[in-house]
Amino acid sequence: MRIVVCVKQTVSGEINPFDACAYEAALQIPNAEVTLLSMGPEKSKEFLLNLTRLGAKEAYLLCDRAFAGADTLATSYALSLAIKRLEPDLVICGRQTIDGDTGQTGPSVSVQAGLSLITNVMKIVCTDGKITCQTRTMGEQMAAYPALITVERINHLRLPNIRSKCTEVIVWNADDIGADEERCGLKGSPTKVMASFQNEDGKRKCKFVDASMLDTIIEEGLRKEKDRISPRKYDGAKLKKVWIVGDKCLEMAETISDDIRVFNRSEAETQAYDFAKEFVKRVREEEPSAILWDSDAWSKQMAPRVAALLQTGLCADCTALETDGENLYMYRPAFSGNIIAKIGCITRPQMATIRTATEGIADVICAMGKGAKGAKELVESYVDRKNAQNGPHWETACSRLAVDSEMFPYEKQVGMTGKTVSPAVYIAVGISGAVHHIAGMKQSGTVIAINLDKKAPIFDYADYGIVARAEEVFGC
Ligand SMILES: Cc1cc2nc3c(=O)[nH]c(=O)nc-3n(C[C@H](O)[C@H](O)[C@H](O)COP(=O)(O)OP(=O)(O)OC[C@H]3O[C@@H](n4cnc5c(N)ncnc54)[C@H](O)[C@@H]3O)c2cc1C
Repeated sequence: MRIVVCVKQTVSGEINPFDACAYEAALQIPNAEVTLLSMGPEKSKEFLLNLTRLGAKEAYLLCDRAFAGADTLATSYALSLAIKRLEPDLVICGRQTIDGDTGQTGPSVSVQAGLSLITNVMKIVCTDGKITCQTRTMGEQMAAYPALITVERINHLRLPNIRSKCTEVIVWNADDIGADEERCGLKGSPTKVMASFQNEDGKRKCKFVDASMLDTIIEEGLRKEKDRISPRKYDGAKLKKVWIVGDKCLEMAETISDDIRVFNRSEAETQAYDFAKEFVKRVREEEPSAILWDSDAWSKQMAPRVAALLQTGLCADCTALETDGENLYMYRPAFSGNIIAKIGCITRPQMATIRTATEGIADVICAMGKGAKGAKELVESYVDRKNAQNGPHWETACSRLAVDSEMFPYEKQVGMTGKTVSPAVYIAVGISGAVHHIAGMKQSGTVIAINLDKKAPIFDYADYGIVARAEEVFGC
């Protein structure tokens, strides 16, 4: 089987973590002939060459001035042309890059290269005629070859064998892949970053309390209305004809338009590809000025495909919108949430996925980090006792280091490379509060942090702090 793995070098020079999982997944498929594909500057050649030591037959680097400054549509255009030339049976991409963080490239490539698509893959079984995958939130899915799948953080990339050798990196320019330069790089990118701001989002004023107050502050948190992202109030001119797919982003849509049409997506979810084609036909007929989508797994694979079919820009994970009556200005976190970027779009319709916290259904989440290792059973029995009272629904979750130290399976990981949750109350036990973790929980209602180190960053993102050992808090 011929497999192409799309990999990106991050700003720090490493392989994007999700792409590392994609590469490892490809290497584990029996009789696979693996080719690496990347787009980047000349210096990425060495990065690719080193990666070939792990088992890839060869690597291709798309490198041309014309490719510089590409957004996801222009990037996936170039990648899809290279993929068409390579003619693989299967393309494996990571779920998202950690710097761009949009998750759009895989679905967009699938449309532009004519491949079937499965996203958020946890397990892969390749048989003769088809690929069957276990996905993170959409159950088991099957696709015919040629297919493209995007994988979650499902494995660890192997280390090179001491005797393994590098193979070859072939550099292709825009001509080599027959690219139209008008559709490449900055020229071919409908979305433009207009400004960026420091993001203080998620920071809270922490009140330190005694451990004996825990039950009281949880009850208070449950009584308060969930502190979700409140859309920016906007009183200026409004956009005409705004469509929304699903109704979770209605509140956000109302900030920029009084002319909103809601598309019910329940039928569409069982016939994904037909929906894209049918929807695109209606968009061409009725020409809405903007289309907003939720940001759950279904929307995140559907919206980029619709954008690719319409050849329009798509801004991912927006937390606020503005308009001057003509143009939509979309605000989104970038670089792990430290920066907020203001994005404009020069094509129509203007499209955005809106950050809606959809994965957390629990009222209270008790998340454990590496520091809760010794208290894990105590915390779990505390959660069991709460659930036995038949009141609010409690769940456990964890940080990435808790997954790495095998305290919990990956499905429980909250954060940038895990899931996003927004319970009424989030209790972080023995979690330091790295930005990567905060990215997945900052939309929670009341945040309570329990940590023995008063200087731990988690307290900057908590409403209440308890400085204590987890064993003591839950042991009594
Ligand atoms: C690209 C990338 C993506 C990432 N994605 C994620 C992600 O999705 N989710 C995520 O969580 N992380 C993610 N990380 C990792 C993240 O940067 C942190 O390393 C991780 O969140 C730290 O986990 P932790 O807080 O459990 O462990 P640590 O940072 O080791 O913190 C443990 C904390 O427990 C406290 N502690 C120790 N003992 C006790 C005790 N007995 N009682 C109470 N407190 C105690 C310590 O004071 C410390 O603050 C990512 C990193 C990278 C580079």
